[in-house]
Formats: sequence, structure tokens, C-alpha cells
Amino acid sequence: MLQPVRGTHDVLPEEMRAHRHVSDSARGIAECYGFDEMATPIFEFSSVFARTLGEATDIVEKEMYSFVDQGGDELTLRPENTAGVARCFISNGLAQLAPLKYFYSGPMFRHERPQKGRLRQFHQIGVEYIGVAGPQADIEVIAVGERILYILGIREHTVLELNTLGDEESRAGYRKALVAYFNDYVKDLSDDSRRRLKRNPLRILDSKDAGDCRIVAGAPEFKDFLNAYSVDFFAQVKAGLDLLSIGYEINPRLVRGLDYYCHTAFEFTTTQLGAQSAVLAGGRYDGLIETLGGPSTPGVGWAAGIERLAMLANDVPKPRRPIAVVPIGADAEAPALKLSEELRRAGFRVDVGDSGNLRKRMRRANKVNAVAAILMGEDELAQGVVTVRDMESGDQESTATGSVVAQLSRYR
Ligand code: ATP
Ligand code: MG
Repeated sequence: MLQPVRGTHDVLPEEMRAHRHVSDSARGIAECYGFDEMATPIFEFSSVFARTLGEATDIVEKEMYSFVDQGGDELTLRPENTAGVARCFISNGLAQLAPLKYFYSGPMFRHERPQKGRLRQFHQIGVEYIGVAGPQADIEVIAVGERILYILGIREHTVLELNTLGDEESRAGYRKALVAYFNDYVKDLSDDSRRRLKRNPLRILDSKDAGDCRIVAGAPEFKDFLNAYSVDFFAQVKAGLDLLSIGYEINPRLVRGLDYYCHTAFEFTTTQLGAQSAVLAGGRYDGLIETLGGPSTPGVGWAAGIERLAMLANDVPKPRRPIAVVPIGADAEAPALKLSEELRRAGFRVDVGDSGNLRKRMRRANKVNAVAAILMGEDELAQGVVTVRDMESGDQESTATGSVVAQLSRYR
């Protein structure tokens, strides 16, 4: 049997409705917070990701779908969208328009081990708030994320984990202390973490290796290395969240290992998705645009997996119930086609069974969950009427062909 590529899957209508519910709800709420939707290409030059995601990260080390195209360009299917948005900011010379608030939604690609909630082609929604250095942007970005989770009925199943990575000075001091600490355990660290020690020691804090975790438990804590500016910045973020009654838990182990990440780091996590706990994750990335060669510009944002949100979301709207148009006999086919078109132009969802006798077509009307059926028999047509049958009550009434649209208005 022909199968889709491992880690990809077909989104059939029921799941598509759940995806649409997630992305439409998110788009609407993001708009209330002033975020405009935009889109960047699904592939970029590989250097966009290699430079922004940093070398010693899972994504760049092993998860990127990279290829050389017919023209010899080295390209990568986007594993996330922040790098693309930063590239877009530079390419389009958007600095003079800053601050900018963007919302996006679309597919991302990572070569990971597929499992529930972890795919190789998955979909994300996300926001980026570019050009504001102060903590009010962090607060707004978290608030819009929390509001989206709330509207989807997911917030109560999540915890907002919050941490600060401080400014550059604070991070430099912390990095030095971490290197000194981990150097004492270098023999016991996993191979991955030994490599990170040289290139990206903060990432060791993120390791899932059990041996690493034991060592990490005794590592120095970031809070002892934060300078006054960083402490104050974090205090303002927390005060803003308190003001908006957004609950959070401080998680000092929540890190992002790249140099351009700073200050606020956060993640909404859940216990309801098995091993996959993160539903929405983000943080501040003040050095990112400069890393890509653009003007020094602060930014903060998050991304969330649509598949994971869709699995948790309540109240996914059901498909709209159609009106079934049921011609009885060959002479009724043409008038049925005409009436169906009229109803569709009036905004009704209409199902016309493709063939069969009355019984077969009524079975079909039930199967598609029709709210009403319009029976068009030869006698009726001769009199210029049709029969409208309410599929719930079974009540039938005769209606002039010319007034069917008006007659059906109660089914809108
Ligand atoms: P994880 O720890 O689960 O690997 P991550 O830290 O790699 O997540 P981010 O890069 O922060 O995730 O992406 C933001 C969100 O995108 C995640 O919180 C998750 O909801 C979703 N996500 C990430 N990778 C996948 C994937 N392979 N399949 C489905 N959703 C994903
Ligand atoms: Mg990952």
C-alpha cells in the first residue's frame, strides 16, 4: 500500500475542522491584540536557520530538511518561523515601520522521531512583536497566548512556566559558572552534553538524559547571576502578569541556549499529551535580527503546535448541516439542479444525492445529517410546488417553488 512519508499525515475533514478552529480562533484573538497576519516562504536559504538557530541545537544538528535545488542553492524547509520573520524584516527594510506585530500560521518541518503529537510536517501558529525593548511587549505576547489557550478550553490544563535568561552581561557570568561546574563532571556527562559544554553550555540544562539531569540538579542557578537591570525587567514582567491574573510558575531550568535569547522565556505545558508536554513556547530574542545582519532590533514571540492544540481543544464546530435536495424521477433532475444552485447562491449548504430512488436518496439525506429535505416529485412539479420535510420532526409541508429560499430561512 502506498503510504505518506513517515512523520507526515493526511489531514482529513474532521481533523481539518479542529485545525481550522485552532487557527481561526487564534487569528481572531491575535487581531484583538493588534497582530496582523503575514506569511513567509516555506523554504529559505539554509544559512537563515544555520545562523539564527545556532550550531549546537537539536534543530540544526539533526532535524533540518535541507537540500540543494536544481540551481545549486542550499535550501531548508523551515523548521520554525521566527528566523523567516527576522529575515523578512531585513529583506523588506521594515525597520522604519517598527514596532510591528505579526501573526502567522502554517506548516513547519523537522526530521524527528514521529510519535503522538510529534510529526515531521506539523503546523504552528505564532506571534512576533518586533521593535519594543521593554517588558510590556513580553506581557502582551504572553497575554495573547494565554487568551488563545483560554478560548480553546486548554488553559485550565496547562501551566505557564516562566524564567528569565537575563541580559548579555548576566548570561556571560552564568555561562562561565556553568562551564566551571560542568567541567568537574565532564566524564559523567552524555556525549551530547560534552559537546554542548564547549559550544552551548546552557543547553545542558535542557538535557533529557537521566545522568545529565542528576548533574544538572546541582548546577548553579541563573538567579544568582542576574544583574540589577535583568532582575528589574523580570519583576516588571511578573507584575504585568499578576495585574492580568495570569498565573505562572517559575522554572529556573527553562532555557533557550542561543546567544540572542534573553530575558523572558516561557512555555505553557500540559500533562495531557503524554511525553509531549509543550503546547506553546516562546521568549525574547533581542539579538536575532542583528545576528542575521540586520539593524539591532529587539523582539519577543511564541509558537504553538496546531496538532497539539487541536488534540486538546473543546467545542470544535460541527460541519454545517445541509439541505438535501431529492428529485424523484428523471423529469425532476433538471429542476432539482436549478433549485440546488439557487439555494447555494443564497448561502445554504446543499447536498444532492447523485442518483437512486427516493429511499436511497433519503438514506443519503440522513447520512449527511441534512436538516431538511426538499422532495421534488413529478406531481408536485406540475403544480409548481415542492415538499419541504423537516428531518428532525418528520413534518412535511408543501411550498411554492418560488418561495423555497424564504421558507428555508429558519434552517440558516
Ligand atoms: P519539544 O520540546 O516538544 O520538542 P520544541 O521545544 O522543539 O518542542 P518549539 O521549537 O518551541 O518546540 O516549537 C513550539 C511548539 O511547536 C511546541 O511547543 C509544540 O507545540 C510544537 N512542535 C514542535 N515540534 C513539533 C513536532 N515535531 N510535531 C508537532 N508539534 C511540534
Ligand atoms: Mg523539539
